[in-house]
Amino acid sequence: MVNNKALAEYCDDYLSKDKFDDYCPNGLQVEGKGDISKIISGVSANLDLIERAIDESADALFVHHGFFWKNEALVLTGIKKNRIKALLESEINLFAYHLPLDAHPIVGNNIQLAMRLNIQNPTPIGDTLVWQGEVNSTLASVSQAVKKVTERTPLVFGDDNKVINKIAWCSGGAQSYIEHAIEIGADCFITGEVSEQIPAIAKENNIAFISAGHHATERYGVQALCQHLSQKFDLKHQFIDIDNQV
Ligand SMILES: [Zn+2]
Repeated sequence: MVNNKALAEYCDDYLSKDKFDDYCPNGLQVEGKGDISKIISGVSANLDLIERAIDESADALFVHHGFFWKNEALVLTGIKKNRIKALLESEINLFAYHLPLDAHPIVGNNIQLAMRLNIQNPTPIGDTLVWQGEVNSTLASVSQAVKKVTERTPLVFGDDNKVINKIAWCSGGAQSYIEHAIEIGADCFITGEVSEQIPAIAKENNIAFISAGHHATERYGVQALCQHLSQKFDLKHQFIDIDNQV
C-alpha cells in the first residue's frame, strides 16, 4: 500500500515530469482516497474506462490521456462533468502522464514499442520525441511485426519489398514528425495516425510510412509504468483496454 501523494511524488520524479512543456498537466489530476493498494492502467480516461475501474474497486487509475488539455473549455460540464463526478464519487485517484510517458527510457511508449518490434539500438533523435533504431528487414516484414504487436492491421504506404534498415517511430498522433525521420535518412517511419498529405510526402522523400493506430501504439507505456509501480509498492495492477480503432 502507498499514500496517493507519495505515489504522485514518486511518479513525477521517476518520469521527470518537470522536464516537459506539455499540452496538459502531468501527475495527479483528480485526487481520491489516500491509501492506494489497487491500480488500473488504461490509455484514455473516458467514461467506459472509469466505470471499469469502479467495477474493479480501484484506488487509482493511471492513463496516458487524462483531462484538462490546452484549448479545452475551462468548465466542468457535459462529458467532463460525468467523468470527473464518477471519479470523485468513487474516490478513485486519476494519474495522467502524457509526454513524460512517451519519452521515458524504460517504461515509455516508444522504448516499449521498440522492444516489442525487435528494433536494435533504440535512441531518441536529438531532443525530439521521435526515436530511431535499426532493423534488417523489408517493409512487408516490419508491417507484419507491427500487426502482430498491435493486434490490428496497420495502414502501410510504400513498396512491400523496400529494404528497411534505419527506422524511426513516435507513438500517437505524430504524423507531422515524419520530417525528423526524413532528416536522419530513415527508410521507414511508424506512428499512430496519418493525415491526407502524408502518403505523398512519404513517397516523394522515399520513406515508407506505417500508421499503426494512436491507441494501439500507446497501450504499452502506461502498463509498463504500472507494472513497475506494482512491484515497487506491492500494489495490485490490472490493464484494461477499451478498444479504439483510431
Ligand atoms: Zn496520444
